Amino acid sequence: MTGSRGPKLAFIDLDSQRRHLEPRITDAIRTVLEHGQFVLGPEVVHLERRLAERSGRRRVVTVGSGTDALLLTLEAWGIGRGDAVVVPAFTFAATAEVVKRLGATPIFCDVTEDGALLDPGEIPVAVGVAQGLGLRVRAVLPVGLYGQPVDEPAIAAAAAAHHLLVLGDAAQSFGATYDGIDTLGFGTASATSFYPSKPLGCYGDGGAVFTDDDGLADTVESLRMHGSGASAYDHVRVGTTSRLDTLQAAILLEKLGVFDSEHERRQEIAARYDNRLAGVVTGFPPAPGRISAWAQYTVRVPERDRIRAELADVGVPTAVHYPEPLHRQMAYRDDPRAHDTLPVSDRLAAEVLSLPMHPYLSVESQDRVVDGLTNAVRSVRA
Ligand SMILES: *Cc1c(COP(=O)(O)O)cnc(C)c1O
Repeated sequence: MTGSRGPKLAFIDLDSQRRHLEPRITDAIRTVLEHGQFVLGPEVVHLERRLAERSGRRRVVTVGSGTDALLLTLEAWGIGRGDAVVVPAFTFAATAEVVKRLGATPIFCDVTEDGALLDPGEIPVAVGVAQGLGLRVRAVLPVGLYGQPVDEPAIAAAAAAHHLLVLGDAAQSFGATYDGIDTLGFGTASATSFYPSKPLGCYGDGGAVFTDDDGLADTVESLRMHGSGASAYDHVRVGTTSRLDTLQAAILLEKLGVFDSEHERRQEIAARYDNRLAGVVTGFPPAPGRISAWAQYTVRVPERDRIRAELADVGVPTAVHYPEPLHRQMAYRDDPRAHDTLPVSDRLAAEVLSLPMHPYLSVESQDRVVDGLTNAVRSVRA
């Protein structure tokens, strides 16, 4: 065994990033403390403008979380009881949760073997199932899992054929591009999350909706502030409280300043992992023309529990995204699905393993991960 031992590595190292960004973040926080506009202050307006410029979208509306970015968009579209939304089964719960919170029905679809992404071929099948149940199919919610761009042309074609709105769940994929175009520009709208461990994370909860539809953006702005109309105490609809704090916006503006260089570092790290892990395990390499945000570097392994334990022994933390597909979870198992079984989702849930991935991961640390995984895979195969 050549397992290079040492201190436990970080799975996502937010502390290195914080040290790198000091004292800019502290200054930005102090500025907000001094001006005192803690809700919808100038940093929020500035951030929304910067995000719109970056993504090529007409409008960006920040909200309290990635989940609310999805929820308020569907709500603004009037999706509710009697409606269906097509979702992948292999994703984080928020994707389907928002559909059910509005009283609508998620239709679970399988994902692709090579990308773990919503299989566009499932969309017409899901539409048929929903119609058979007497539901109106309103939208499809593709997910940029692990930071990957989704199969945009195929999803757009299937959505157009069935008159579906497209809401991209880009919670993990801020920074991803498809043929050089920012994936936040895909679909009728897209939603991202600023949860701390996402590619662009703040120091708490936050999210944003990206769209070219002024009507949608105006409605989400109203929903995030108690359904306000022309003034603060004019209420034209039933809304909620879901704003991105000014403090978080100030932090995000500083982080956005280094995002592109961090994104490049993630590309280098992923390429090095790809290279050194070739022949050991397979992952989810992006198809030509697609660039992942590498929120996670995820591979498929045999005997995952044993491999995780061996890696933990040499100080290499790992995570499983996700151990059980949604159609098997108590909260969702009675919901309809495109097919009785969703075999790819089941298989991936049993095999996926995410390795440490963040822009401050040193070459030595990567080598420890690669050596640890190579040894572990050899020992379970022996
Ligand atoms: C993180 C995540 C969300 C939710 O974002 P929050 O900001 O945590 O509410 C939604 N969908 C996916 C795929 C996610 O990974």
